[in-house]
Amino acid sequence: MPTKGSPVQATVDVVQKIIHLAGSPHPFLSVYLPTDPAQATTEGNRLRLAALLDRASQDLADPSWEEPFRVERRTVEAYMRTLRPGGKGLAILSSAPAGEWQALWLPDAVPEHVRFGPGAHVLPLLDMLDEWEPVGLALVSKDTARLMVLEAGQIQEVRRVESEVPGKHKAGGYAGWEGARIQRHLLVHAKDHLKRALEELEGAHQAHPFRRLFLGGSPESVGLFKKLLSRELKSRLVGDLSIDLYATNPEVRAQVLQAARETERREEQGLVGEIITRAAKEQGAVVGVDPTLWALNRRQLHLLVLAGEVSQPGRHCAACDLLLSEEAVSCPQCGGKARAVDLWEELPRSALSRAVRIEVVHGEAASQLWHHDGLGGLLKPKQG
Ligand SMILES: [Zn+2]
Repeated sequence: MPTKGSPVQATVDVVQKIIHLAGSPHPFLSVYLPTDPAQATTEGNRLRLAALLDRASQDLADPSWEEPFRVERRTVEAYMRTLRPGGKGLAILSSAPAGEWQALWLPDAVPEHVRFGPGAHVLPLLDMLDEWEPVGLALVSKDTARLMVLEAGQIQEVRRVESEVPGKHKAGGYAGWEGARIQRHLLVHAKDHLKRALEELEGAHQAHPFRRLFLGGSPESVGLFKKLLSRELKSRLVGDLSIDLYATNPEVRAQVLQAARETERREEQGLVGEIITRAAKEQGAVVGVDPTLWALNRRQLHLLVLAGEVSQPGRHCAACDLLLSEEAVSCPQCGGKARAVDLWEELPRSALSRAVRIEVVHGEAASQLWHHDGLGGLLKPKQG
């Protein structure tokens, strides 16, 4: 059994390493708790967890799970008694039979959720990974460039380029022909500087492959810099942000985070709109419980889209590993009894084991998808 020290900080690497626990055949107790020290005391957290565990113990799908549940519950509650305040959210994935123990501090509050059953519940972690993709930001002026990356909610300046601008202090004082010559001279230097900044940005992009890029700083230099961008970087460019060149890291983080979220929400709306339209025309997409589960069970699904933070009752046939709608009391394939499950808890395991990508959507996109049971997806392209 792994040691139970303080929770580790959830990072992309850590989360990616433990997502496969969703596919474990062993029972896991999965706990998600908002733990912001400013919002709740450790005693408050313990009481809330106890209430959630009480509810989970009443909802156990199988009487044979009672004892294994009690074992995990004891372990988790003992751990909570020694836990010092730390992160805004806490995730615990515990399974004695699997020899697994994971406790993570999450950078943001999570909706509270407790689940006991085969495989770890990883949907909140998958949702987080979506938001953790690196976002690039280049703040440029004619003699300075700060290249920053927002990754897993953290902002860092990864490169800085400073160039000497010749005769800077004199430039304003000249007039006529001489002034124009100096202005041209300065422009050449500014371009050289921005080219250097671009090289550094390419390097930063290789080290932290960002899907989105924002620009900020002095508008003149941003205009010049934009023209220099390679096609690859241009394809990542979302837009300009009015961020001062010397804005503090927390200021930069807040603005980039908000802009990236807005872009993400827009893309989610586009994706959900496309899926709904294509599903209506039966053109490579499905929406609603039955069509989506049908495609998933038959390995036709390429991308599964779920509305975030809710649940939907369904059933699972363990013998055939089929996910079924709530009405399917017996499995249509083997005739066996199908166990009642929460589809939102089962879908990640089922999708991951079939190499289906999962996208969790929020806001307006989620509302649209809820007109279709809150789930849908894109089908694999037809062969031949
Ligand atoms: Zn079956």
